[in-house]
Amino acid sequence: MENKTIYLDYAATTPMSTEVYMKMLDVFSKHYGNSSALYKMGRDADAVLEEAREKVAAAIGADPEEIYFTSGGTEANNWAITGIAKANLKKGNHIITSAIEHPSVIETCKKLEQEGFNVTYIPVDANGVIDYASIIKAMGPKTTLISIMTANNEVGSLQPIRAIAALASASGIYFHTDAVQAIGSLAIDVKELNVDALSLSAHKFYGPKGVGALYIKKGTKIDKFMNGGRQENNFRAGTLNVALCAGLGVAIENATTDLENKIKNVRIVRKYFQKKLSEAVHNISLNGHPTQRLPGNCSITFEGAESEAVVMLLDSMGVCASSGSACEAGSNKPSHVLAAMGRDLEQIRTTIRFTFGEGITKDDCDEAVELIRKAVKKIRSVSAIRIYKNKVDL
Ligand SMILES: *Cc1c(COP(=O)(O)O)cnc(C)c1O
Repeated sequence: MENKTIYLDYAATTPMSTEVYMKMLDVFSKHYGNSSALYKMGRDADAVLEEAREKVAAAIGADPEEIYFTSGGTEANNWAITGIAKANLKKGNHIITSAIEHPSVIETCKKLEQEGFNVTYIPVDANGVIDYASIIKAMGPKTTLISIMTANNEVGSLQPIRAIAALASASGIYFHTDAVQAIGSLAIDVKELNVDALSLSAHKFYGPKGVGALYIKKGTKIDKFMNGGRQENNFRAGTLNVALCAGLGVAIENATTDLENKIKNVRIVRKYFQKKLSEAVHNISLNGHPTQRLPGNCSITFEGAESEAVVMLLDSMGVCASSGSACEAGSNKPSHVLAAMGRDLEQIRTTIRFTFGEGITKDDCDEAVELIRKAVKKIRSVSAIRIYKNKVDL
């Protein structure tokens, strides 16, 4: 019998929508001209690119000239942090970020530390929310940049970026936010939030992989990232993949249209799953803030059930979920996010992230919960035997 797949890893990536695919197919086949070329084929491709730029800008309340296409969220984060830090070295070499950022932010900051920058990693509370007071304490005359994510990808906690942006702005410090998880799950308006730079990535909201954008507020002092041709206003060299950018445009327009309803539906399904799971499996707990969280995120610690084993067993049953974040899965590295929240190694090793999106029904949840119940029961009994055997061997 063919096993149905229940995909519960929308925070890792989302399936591409048919509309996005059709748009890309059209652009790939018809508009292959180089968007920098002077002749009509090139100008046509450029028009497709600019239409996509307008869609991205409209979705986040920016001006089109403030949108720069990138190869994804990772590049946008690398560029925002490196570019602002280096362009403002005359003022100072201090950067503030948090302990729970995505690796594309943390590793960029570590690299800058090797180059002589000072970085403060702001701690979080047990709910995975950054400590606002610690930011005030860390700020100094040499601080040029604060980078705090809008919402965490592992535990879903929303961060107080509105307050941080106001604080940064009042202190003459640039503020960047990694909003990769937030687009399509939260209403985002860069002008209203008063951020200087914001990263987004298409494949987290039903668009294609390998394309994203960096919003850079007009007047922001930032170095260019890629050296070469004069594309993207001479800030990001390289021939853009026009079809991917067009896909991003359609995806972000769809993701931000009728947003309230979309959020509501995803939240209802995730909460239903959470309730059913807590009825079916004992000794489990939810990670992240109980209410101030992404609508589709459900990070659960299953006491006594090693998450990697459960995830593998679930995979054989047709359920996709993630132990740790996708970026760290398989690396055997314990989650830096859960560690920053004060979880011990045992808790980290028994945590699974289920993330929801469009297309997941309550029936899917019922099926998934029953399979999770079976898988956790099995792994718990195996773990118990192993612990018993270890004791006997001693
Ligand atoms: C997925 C993700 C990224 C990386 O985006 P890519 O487009 O996959 O490079 C960055 N930050 C967060 C919070 C993410 O969830």
